[in-house]
Amino acid sequence: MRAPTEDLAAAAVPHMTPDEFRRHGSEVVEWIARYMERVEELPVLSRVAPGEVRAQLPPHPPEEGEPFDAVLADLDRIVVPGLTHWQSPGFFAYFPSNGSGPAILGELLSAGLGVQGMLWSTSPACTELETHVMDWLVEALGLPREFRSDGPGGGVIQDTASSAVLCAILAARERTSGGATNARGGDGTLTVYCSTQTHSSVEKGVAVAGIGVDNLREVEVDAAFAMRPAALAEAIAADRAAGKRPSCVVATVGSTSSNAIDPVAAIAEICAREGVWLHVDAAMSGTAALCPELRFIHAGVERADSYCFNPHKWMLTTFDCSAFWVRDRRPLLAALSILPEYLRNAASASGAVIDYRDWHIQLGRRFRALKLWMVLRWYGLAGLRAMVRSHVELAHRFAGWVERDADWETAAPVPLNLVCFRHRAGDEVNQRAMDAVNASGEAYLTHTRLDGKLTLRLCVGQARTEAHHVERVWELLRAAAAG
Ligand code: PLP
Repeated sequence: MRAPTEDLAAAAVPHMTPDEFRRHGSEVVEWIARYMERVEELPVLSRVAPGEVRAQLPPHPPEEGEPFDAVLADLDRIVVPGLTHWQSPGFFAYFPSNGSGPAILGELLSAGLGVQGMLWSTSPACTELETHVMDWLVEALGLPREFRSDGPGGGVIQDTASSAVLCAILAARERTSGGATNARGGDGTLTVYCSTQTHSSVEKGVAVAGIGVDNLREVEVDAAFAMRPAALAEAIAADRAAGKRPSCVVATVGSTSSNAIDPVAAIAEICAREGVWLHVDAAMSGTAALCPELRFIHAGVERADSYCFNPHKWMLTTFDCSAFWVRDRRPLLAALSILPEYLRNAASASGAVIDYRDWHIQLGRRFRALKLWMVLRWYGLAGLRAMVRSHVELAHRFAGWVERDADWETAAPVPLNLVCFRHRAGDEVNQRAMDAVNASGEAYLTHTRLDGKLTLRLCVGQARTEAHHVERVWELLRAAAAG
């Protein structure tokens, strides 16, 4: 029992006042602006040893609140050295996760509003702005009009492409099983297809969806690392003969290892014939379709059941923001809708609104559309196209230098902004060259393995990468390989 004199409801809680927020908020915005100015001077790949960051943090949480300035000081002292600088113009690793001023401000506004948009009624603008910018993107990328929200289809912002592919697999699962898997669980007969080059998120999605990774078929690829449609057709036929139920094919536009583009049109033909769901994963490369001359990457997407690309990879929309569309939302909603009493409301019952809680795994959702809206309005499509064209041009320039040097070779076609290349002397030299570039602090590259050989990857996707950054990596690579 509490002491009768104690009024807990009236206890002083040290909230940040609006005035304090104004002051510290200005400091934080200034800190970020300064970070943008100096990020190029910081070593791109963090140099801390495992445990070094934690060793500098107090073992126990503070009992009393601390001044905000002390936290900002520790940000510089402890956190920044432990960062790999994804926003550095020398970041050429993996696929990018680029960002921009308008996106950061959109995130700040989203946090400031603190809206949770699980239902239309929990913040109508959160839903309607999202629906609207997703329809804008259909137009901007030349995607099929069936993906627009004014028909049976529609788009939704997911956190990541991994969540998007999981949703596609679940929708396919419900369509193939006529709703039986939601009701009674799987019977081990559903199968899913991707290529040997497909991102690991598909394997994870198949496992999470209860389909079982033994029922995932990794179809072989051609010399350009793209899925062979004939091999897909054979795999489906073999499964049908064995009593399996082919459910979903995942085609990739711009694979992670080599930027391979699966022949979506031929794959779509097979999917249509077989009644199999086709999901297209264009995680990074989809952004290129903003440029009409690069829209060839989407040939065949007009027949896909679902499609995803990540504005958080290459479209300046600070992580996280993954855009996912379906041609027909009914199987998706059949897989994911659930309506407890406490969520019932008149707007949902009217059928006139979208409740995005039914379009992804989790219930609650952030106001991500705000940053996407800000990016689209700040840059305009023309501004975004200019960035894409510049990156593709820089990647092609780099590929040209590699190809003209007798000691080096490209290891895969370069359709967009990723160059896969290697020194002809073999794995040891390539490893040495990559390690030297990464140790220099000026740039950061990662690798893959193609045709059994260690292959370096240079992906140009940073907002502020210019020609001289790419020239410098080439210089560092050649010096390291020679040394
Ligand atoms: N698909 C492809 C082709 C990717 O390259 C990646 C990540 O790089 C993913 C999916 C997974 O992306 P996310 O981190 O958004 O789940």
